Amino acid sequence: MSEDKLLENVIETQRKLATLIGVSGHENEVRDFILSELKKITDEAWIDKMGNVLGIKKGTDPNGLRIMIDAHMDEVGLLISFIESNGFLRFTPLGGIDKRLYPGSDIKVQTKSGKIVSGIIGMNPPHITDPKLRDKSPDYMDLFIDIGAKNEEEVKNLGIMVGSRAVLDGRFEYNPDIGGGFMRGRAFDDRTGCNVALQVAKLIKNSDPIPNTILYSFSVCEEVGGRGVPAATNELKPDIGIALENTIAADVPGVPLNKQITRLNHGPAFTVADRGAIYHEKLLEIFKIRAEELGFEWQYKTPAYGGTNAGIFHKMHKGIPSGCISVPSRYIHSPIAMVRISDVLATIKTLHAILMKPIEI
Ligand SMILES: [Zn+2]
Repeated sequence: MSEDKLLENVIETQRKLATLIGVSGHENEVRDFILSELKKITDEAWIDKMGNVLGIKKGTDPNGLRIMIDAHMDEVGLLISFIESNGFLRFTPLGGIDKRLYPGSDIKVQTKSGKIVSGIIGMNPPHITDPKLRDKSPDYMDLFIDIGAKNEEEVKNLGIMVGSRAVLDGRFEYNPDIGGGFMRGRAFDDRTGCNVALQVAKLIKNSDPIPNTILYSFSVCEEVGGRGVPAATNELKPDIGIALENTIAADVPGVPLNKQITRLNHGPAFTVADRGAIYHEKLLEIFKIRAEELGFEWQYKTPAYGGTNAGIFHKMHKGIPSGCISVPSRYIHSPIAMVRISDVLATIKTLHAILMKPIEI
C-alpha cells in the first residue's frame, strides 16, 4: 500500500470512527462499522454474545502462535437516568469524565431510533448560587441536560428514555499543516486503537502469508471496567495478547517531564507496567527492536498510571504473555482529543512489523 493511500485510510477511518457514538453498553454504531470493515480483511469476522466484534486471519502453520490484538470500541459518556416532568434530563457518567468539563458542554443525545438530539449541560445561574459553591465544580447530580423540550412527554416522543446514551460533543478535524499534521476529535480513546487494528489487518491481508494466526478483538465496555474482553479472550484462546490503546500525553505547559506519561510526536508508547499488569519483558523488547528497525522513535508509558484490557486478559487461561502499545493523545476522556499523524502511522507500521516477524518469547 502506498504511503498516500495509508494516510488517506487512516484519516478517513478516524473521521468515521470519531463521528459514531458508542458509549459503554451501546456500541451498536461502532460495532456495525467495524464488523463490515473486518469482514473484508479477515478470514472470518463475527459478533459474540457480549457484543464484541471478533475476527481471525489464519496463519499457514496450524501449530503457529495465536496472537490477539484488542482495541475497545466503547467511549466514556453519559447515561440518561431520569426525565424531569418539565423536560430536563438527569444523567450519570459511564466511565471516567472530569466533572469540571460538564457545565455548558454541548451534548448529543441518542434517541431510540439512533437519531441525535442536541442538548446543553445546564446548572443554576451563578447569580443565584451560594457564593461558597460558585468556585466549585458541580457534581453531575446537581446538573441536567436541556434539550429545549417543554415537558416529559415531548422528551419521550423524541425517543429519549432512561438508559439512552449521550456524549459531550467534539468536532473531528484533520490539519496537515500544523506540527507536522494532527487529528483532533471525539472518542479517540479508543477509536484510535480500533483504527490502528483495522489498518494493520488491512496491511496483513495484503502482505505475504505468515505462520502465526492473528486474532482481532474489538471489545465492549472497557471504560466501565473491562467487562467485554474476558468473553473475547475465552473465545479466541490466544497464546499472546496485545492491547492497543490511545493513552494520555501530558506534554503540556506546567507538567514536568517525569509526569508527562507520554508525549506527542515521539512515536508509539510501550507500557512497562500499569495498575492492571506488569507486561511481558521479552515482548516489550521485541516491540522496541521492531520500532528501531523501522527507524521510529518510541517511548515508554510511565509506569503505574491507568490500566488496559490487558490487565484483565493476561491473567486468563494458563496466563497470556501480554503487551500494550498506545498512540499518545492529549485530552483523552474530554470532548476533543489530539493525536499526531506521525505517531499513528509509526504505531501501525511497528505493529505490522511485530506481527509479520517470528515472535520468540
Ligand atoms: Zn481506552
